[in-house]
Amino acid sequence: MNNINRKSTLQAGEVALVGSGPGDAELLTIRALRFIEQADVAIYDRLVSDEIMALLPQHCERLYVGKEQAKHCVPQDKINELLVTYAQQGRKVLRLKGGDPFIFGRGGEEAEFLLKNGISCHLCPGITAASGCTTYAGIPLTHRGVAQGCTFITGHTQNDGQLNLPWQSLSCSSQTVVFYMGINTLPSITEQLIKHGRDKNTPAALIRKGTQPEQQIFRGKLSSLADLAAEHKVTPPTLIVIGDVVNQLTDITLTTPGFLDAKNYQQQLPLSVE
Ligand code: SAH
Repeated sequence: MNNINRKSTLQAGEVALVGSGPGDAELLTIRALRFIEQADVAIYDRLVSDEIMALLPQHCERLYVGKEQAKHCVPQDKINELLVTYAQQGRKVLRLKGGDPFIFGRGGEEAEFLLKNGISCHLCPGITAASGCTTYAGIPLTHRGVAQGCTFITGHTQNDGQLNLPWQSLSCSSQTVVFYMGINTLPSITEQLIKHGRDKNTPAALIRKGTQPEQQIFRGKLSSLADLAAEHKVTPPTLIVIGDVVNQLTDITLTTPGFLDAKNYQQQLPLSVE
């Protein structure tokens, strides 16, 4: 057995906390696939695609604990308990999550709870939505001379119903900002960014079900993004991308998710979006 194999061996009574990426099974890591293939119980979220679920062994028990926006199908503390219970039964437990478990995924809380209960846990990163969805949409998150940095941030309101975000720093024009879970608060997001100085003509995009066959991309500008979302009735899971990088590559070359077709390329890049 080589070194990589040994590292990814799931023993009875252990949990593998695995990121499944944004949906396309081809974006799984080899390590993730190895854990998937060894699991005898999989506890999975709403964002894990059917294509990835189909890779589980036939005998593997499947337990859905998905969350519909703020409504938790199974509350987080119950999920934590389930992981411990199955591990204590001597099962090989796969905790399968969309994207990366440690990026807006509560993976840290789950790992902490497991450790407190004496359960060892393998950690496996996944491609986070901000990376996978933008790349498949032909949007580079940083680009020399256009965006020197990039911020991933949640658009989900806090318990007090407020969006308490560092608007001033998010409004700096040389960075790309990616909002997770922000589709329902989009009107406040765009309003606050403009209020804090971000140019209202900044290119922006909504990517729904990124990397999946149903992927939809809506491009516009900051000031009209909320209207665009309303007009097309855009629902989760959707990522919001704000920054000049959105128009860096033309989307007419993007014929399928993750493929830029040179036949459609026109020299006058970047295109401006009305
Ligand atoms: N841990 C995940 C994020 C979970 S938060 C990760 O690293 O990607 C859930 C939010 O992620 C969704 O509301 C949406 O904003 C975003 N998201 C996840 N997968 C997505 C996809 N395939 N397409 C678009 N947005 C996605």
